[in-house]
Amino acid sequence: VTIAATRERREGETRCAVTPETVKKLIALGAEVRVEAGTGAGSSIPDQDYAEAGATVVADTKATLSGADILLKVRGPTAQETSALKPGAIVVAMLDAWREKETVKALAGAGATAFAMEFVPRITRAQVMDVLSSQANLAGYRAVIEAANAYGKGFPMMMTAAGTVAAAKVFVMGAGVAGLQAVATARRLGAVVTATDVRPAAKEQVESLGAKFIAVEDEEFKAAETSGGYAKEMSDAYKAKQAELTASHITKQDVVITTALIPGRPAPRLVTAAHVASMKPGSVIVDLAIENGGNVEGAKLNEIVTTPNGVTIVGHANLPGRIAADASALYARNLVAFLGLMIKDGALSVDLEDEILKAAVVTHGGAVVHEGVKG
Ligand code: NAD
Repeated sequence: VTIAATRERREGETRCAVTPETVKKLIALGAEVRVEAGTGAGSSIPDQDYAEAGATVVADTKATLSGADILLKVRGPTAQETSALKPGAIVVAMLDAWREKETVKALAGAGATAFAMEFVPRITRAQVMDVLSSQANLAGYRAVIEAANAYGKGFPMMMTAAGTVAAAKVFVMGAGVAGLQAVATARRLGAVVTATDVRPAAKEQVESLGAKFIAVEDEEFKAAETSGGYAKEMSDAYKAKQAELTASHITKQDVVITTALIPGRPAPRLVTAAHVASMKPGSVIVDLAIENGGNVEGAKLNEIVTTPNGVTIVGHANLPGRIAADASALYARNLVAFLGLMIKDGALSVDLEDEILKAAVVTHGGAVVHEGVKG
């Protein structure tokens, strides 16, 4: 089995899909590994380290892909990469298949069997290949670091000879994987942390991290978690009650981190322009959902906005890419675990009836086969 990894070509993508550590693991699975020169640059991994781990470093994209059985990427391949694949090649990436229709179409057209890592089901057996968790965890951490950087005051309470510096008040909206890491990071920095979510399970998790849970806990809240562990879209009546609660709480906050997502839907609008206008000058909001439309009114993709009342809204895309070396290390390990499902004794054996592969396959045999993406 020949496994190839090429440089990421999407704007601002600093991560990579293989690391020297995983090159060794892929070789141990019986594979031959080719890495395009420069693949690890954004994660501070020199080409030489890949070569020393046993990969062949190839200067040219086409030559890297020529005859390869499997292409590993962070984001979906470009049209040129896809056209350089051999028919029937396997592609594994965070395809963002709900939105990247053109990429998916091209992969189907090229006869590739493409797997979207974001569709790997969140079952126990698949935890080790859960890229949503590995990347969201780092995004949650990084969001707090970005907030601390943009905030003109300190996070911890500090008692000095010149008097006391107050602790920052941090409010985390959406307490899933990213939100819980944000809570933990803000706590480590010494902030006073509150958090909210629509899933009841989040309450205990927030409290176990030493933060206070705040939410509209009505009958709808009690039923807001899907069997997959995700949030449902809430009713307009719930949203109105939630907005009222947010209004009274947010005015007292120094930092707000929003992370709320609903799979396959635009991100819910949790912070309105009126909420932002009620905040103190110098407050900071980081919107982690910005790539899915954003949780915060006025947040702009890849921009840092300052509102007329002096609130900074940070809208960086790809927060995991701002901690690229760790994000690549975790993502690359997720991929090794995933490939373990289809490489047996050094040979490819892809069982599309396997629960995990079945959920993640997007194109196969010249067609788009994923029900959600087809429609
Ligand atoms: P996500 O990224 O889809 O959403 C982030 C958070 O936003 C979620 O907690 C969600 O409930 C919340 N949210 C959505 N709409 C909201 C609204 N209107 N107001 C407030 N909050 C809202 O979710 P995620 O972080 O990927 O994971 C969600 C859950 O799944 C977590 O509890 C996590 O522990 C669980 N999980 C389980 C497994 C597993 O069993 N293998 C793996 C990963 C995650």
